[in-house]
Amino acid sequence: MHASAEGLAGPPASDEGTIVNVDATRTNRRYLDGDTKACEACGEPVAVDTEHVGAWVRVDDELGNLFYRPVFCDEECWAAWATSSRE
Ligand SMILES: [Zn+2]
Repeated sequence: MHASAEGLAGPPASDEGTIVNVDATRTNRRYLDGDTKACEACGEPVAVDTEHVGAWVRVDDELGNLFYRPVFCDEECWAAWATSSRE
């Protein structure tokens, strides 16, 4: 029950949501030691129990706003994702 995107058909592309925040040193104590999530950009596992890059993306749906919280290995992956669909 970690993902805020549950209920969506799938993770949004970067141009389907509004990036409201990015934190290059996010830690999340709700995660256990050794927990990982896949990097949104390259798919590599990201250790979410230590500092990592995490974003908040607001996604509009028919019910209101959902928040999606992708994680990234580093700021390069974040930048690649954030710019991938934006011209
Ligand atoms: Zn990555």
